[in-house]
Amino acid sequence: TRQLASRVNTLSPSTTLAITAKAKEMKASGIDVIGLGAGEPDYNTPDNIIEAAYTSMKEGKTKYTPSGGLPTLKDAVIAKLENDQGLHYLRNEIMIGIGAKHVLYTLFQVMINPGDEVIIPSPYWVSYPEQVKLAGGVPVHIEGKPEAHFKVTAEQIHDAVTEKTKAIIINSPGNPTGMIYSEDELNQIANVCKEKDLWIISDEIYEKLIYGDEKHVSIAQLSEDAKKRTLIINGVSKSHSMTGWRIGYIAGDATVVGAMTNLASHSTSNPTTTSQYAAIEAYNGPQDAVETMRKDFESRLDRVYPQLAAIPGFKVIKPQGAFYLLPEVTEAMEKTGFANVDDFAEALLTKANVAVIPGSGFGSPNTIRLSYATSIELIEEAIRRIHSFVKEKW
Ligand code: PLP
Repeated sequence: TRQLASRVNTLSPSTTLAITAKAKEMKASGIDVIGLGAGEPDYNTPDNIIEAAYTSMKEGKTKYTPSGGLPTLKDAVIAKLENDQGLHYLRNEIMIGIGAKHVLYTLFQVMINPGDEVIIPSPYWVSYPEQVKLAGGVPVHIEGKPEAHFKVTAEQIHDAVTEKTKAIIINSPGNPTGMIYSEDELNQIANVCKEKDLWIISDEIYEKLIYGDEKHVSIAQLSEDAKKRTLIINGVSKSHSMTGWRIGYIAGDATVVGAMTNLASHSTSNPTTTSQYAAIEAYNGPQDAVETMRKDFESRLDRVYPQLAAIPGFKVIKPQGAFYLLPEVTEAMEKTGFANVDDFAEALLTKANVAVIPGSGFGSPNTIRLSYATSIELIEEAIRRIHSFVKEKW
């Protein structure tokens, strides 16, 4: 009788958090570990945002807000979507939540019936399948192959659709891949979703972290039909280095957003009031810090990408966005005697003192993920360590 609910029995712990915890433990015991596991920018939140949060508290804005978020923050999000994407939304089509992660969680809770299928391209962000399962749904994985730059095609999606398919998740720029779907690719995907009448969940959290000549296109921008079926997920975590503030949003269908807001009213009441005031400043205030961080990430990428690619047995595609590198390490594992990426990552941590995330948790069992959201000196030293480790064991 005193057993856990069956819904948590299939829940896998986040591999990202597990490795990061182990690396922190080693560090605390005096071992010089370099952590490349981070999923967050290594900058502090810009000062103007911190000031705005402080001022709001001093002004007594420390009470509950409407469950779906402050109207002024919704307006700031509406203005952002208008300016950046040329998309028009009304307040009842926006909900502010506790980070994009919890917005997605709430979305699956209101969208999924037991047995409903959600198509999740791999490599994927670890929480998608777990959240779908928690809602009683079935994750259906289709593989973004390395030769296709880890992206799936409209044809693959078409072939994966059954009468139970409810939605597909598109994450561009992607975690862990760093890849961006082109407008043409998105158009083809939108066409399949129209034909099969699917929801499109478009996770655009890395929108502002884009390099080279790439640009971000939201699938919702492509047509009226695409907009109608797309639920945009985004937030301030990665764009404004505000991971700890926990503010994200959804923009899309008013019925879905209404149900989510209703659910939030019984589960969270509202996202932290102070964080909402901070997010208003993040969207309405000066944006130069966003661009400064983007440029810095880009120069780190340009510098370390060739160093990583030079490691024997590592095949790396240069990412177009986000702050992760995802080398395919099949040959390196073979030549150094590791059976799988979990063991390889474990050895890198305990023998080379570098924490990376094994791709197994992302549905990508031949890759490891390195985050370059840390100082250039540390990334370069970490890559040197990995290089010598591989060379020694080769
Ligand atoms: N979506 C993706 C693809 C992510 O990588 C992350 C964070 O790691 C999130 C969503 C969640 O972001 P938030 O901090 O807004 O919950």
